[in-house]
Amino acid sequence: MINERMYELGAEPNKIRELFAFGLARKAEIGAENVFDFSIGNPSVPAPAQVQEQFQKELAKDPVKAHEYTPSPGDAIVRQAIADHIRDAFGIPATPGNVYVTSGASSAIDITLAAITNPGDEVIAIAPYFPEYRTWSENAGCTLVEVPADAETFQPDIAAIEAAITPKTSAVIINSPNNPVGTVYTRASLEALADLLRRKEEELGTRIFLLSDEPYREIAYGMEIPYVPALYQDTIVCYSFSKSLSLPGERIGYIYVSDLIPDAARISTAVAGAGRALGYICAPVLLQRVVATCLDVEPDVTPYEENRRILTEGLAQLGYEYVEPDGAFYLWVRALEPDAVAFSERAKDFELLLVPSDSFGAQGWVRLSYCIPRNIIERSMPAFAALKAAYDD
Ligand code: PLP
Repeated sequence: MINERMYELGAEPNKIRELFAFGLARKAEIGAENVFDFSIGNPSVPAPAQVQEQFQKELAKDPVKAHEYTPSPGDAIVRQAIADHIRDAFGIPATPGNVYVTSGASSAIDITLAAITNPGDEVIAIAPYFPEYRTWSENAGCTLVEVPADAETFQPDIAAIEAAITPKTSAVIINSPNNPVGTVYTRASLEALADLLRRKEEELGTRIFLLSDEPYREIAYGMEIPYVPALYQDTIVCYSFSKSLSLPGERIGYIYVSDLIPDAARISTAVAGAGRALGYICAPVLLQRVVATCLDVEPDVTPYEENRRILTEGLAQLGYEYVEPDGAFYLWVRALEPDAVAFSERAKDFELLLVPSDSFGAQGWVRLSYCIPRNIIERSMPAFAALKAAYDD
């Protein structure tokens, strides 16, 4: 007898991947230039030159060592380099023992939730949120509790989070810069959230971790991105190089258990145990060593910034409503009918692939991923105009 829940997960369409697959098939049919595929967050900027050179250098080294296992939490030199980077960049006394190298943020979050929760616990996510938070929370035996962001600003709604916290709440997941909205959480918002969590911990006599999911940390357009461990003690950072270094298919990231947590070593041991239980032997060795030498490489976000400008100006002119994004490479656009799934289906008639907000725990919006070639964005404008006209008729 197979596991029915796992069967459901395998069979259940993930809307983003489903649209992405539809786009690939459609491109094969009518030509890539004729499909306006805003579905997936695959960076369109190449990995920085230093990253590409480092791949060659690593491969030119000892051909046995280049492919060896590393200890499960990562190569000691790599963990040291990441800890040094965190210390220098954010002024936190980071140590390598609290760094666990992973295959991207996905496994980082999955492992972290398994390490810091117990079955029956509740995990809060601020909606709209990255859909897999639910999968990973449930995989840890927890219930995901959705709390809508502030309807105007898309910042965390502190009063709503307060109302959702119960004695079973063991973690709150935040993601800034945010997928799918592009919001950057302000220092004031994060401080208010930190104050609330401290107060609730005190009041309930429980422990509430803040899981900061940070694949877009470096992809921001001029806004300050405060370092969450500096604001709230019980913070665990789940970082990814997928977007910042344009390496999404290579699978590399890390967990950082803040050294400011008094029992950080014990939590890191639970992280190692969760990694073991979930079958993570070690992150890809080549990638570990490549990123360790590129921690200070800043991504060039100007192509995304330019895409953002063209897309937002074009949609504004056509009368679409959207949330001005300060980071990441997504635009949150109001669907032209209340049912976002129906709107996304209708958009397909114009070769526009837009992810309905239902996938992110929200109604009435679509997400556009604008990390795509600029000419596709420019050429998509008549399609957006025709879609709008179809609703105006
Ligand atoms: N969290 C968020 C908010 C994301 O957008 C993504 C990927 O798009 C992930 C986690 C997973 O990233 P990774 O490729 O590092 O597993």
